[in-house]
Amino acid sequence: MSDLSELYQQVILDHNKSPRNFRKLEGANRTAEGYNPLCGDQFTVYVKFEDDVIKDISFQGSGCAISKASASLMTASLKGKTEGEAEILFDRVRKMLIGELDTKSNLHELGKLSILSGVCNFPSRVKCASLSWHTFHAALKGEGKLASTE
Ligand code: ZN
Repeated sequence: MSDLSELYQQVILDHNKSPRNFRKLEGANRTAEGYNPLCGDQFTVYVKFEDDVIKDISFQGSGCAISKASASLMTASLKGKTEGEAEILFDRVRKMLIGELDTKSNLHELGKLSILSGVCNFPSRVKCASLSWHTFHAALKGEGKLASTE
């Protein structure tokens, strides 16, 4: 357990300090904004979606270390995925963050994202970690409106 929490901290700190795909995406055709009023996390997610594939994805904004690290991990894991694959991943991550995904095989399939499974032990942080995912989902669905964790 202490190994896991140490790894968790390292990954969160690394992605918070050097977030991946942290920029405005030129040529994005799906975007959405997300806001978590409980913590003040606010992000815009940009998606370039073509031929049923997420060709590129990025985010911008500000928030706590967990929200930023989660968004960074998300962009790295969604690039190149089809809409169907992204939906499956979204559903798994959502369940993992609320502690409803507890089989080892499912966690294994999540790869690096499984680092975030520790978040379900901190209920006040769940919305920080899930914000970027809900924002991505709104963008993919083309809803184009403000995604809120409320
Ligand atoms: Zn937060």
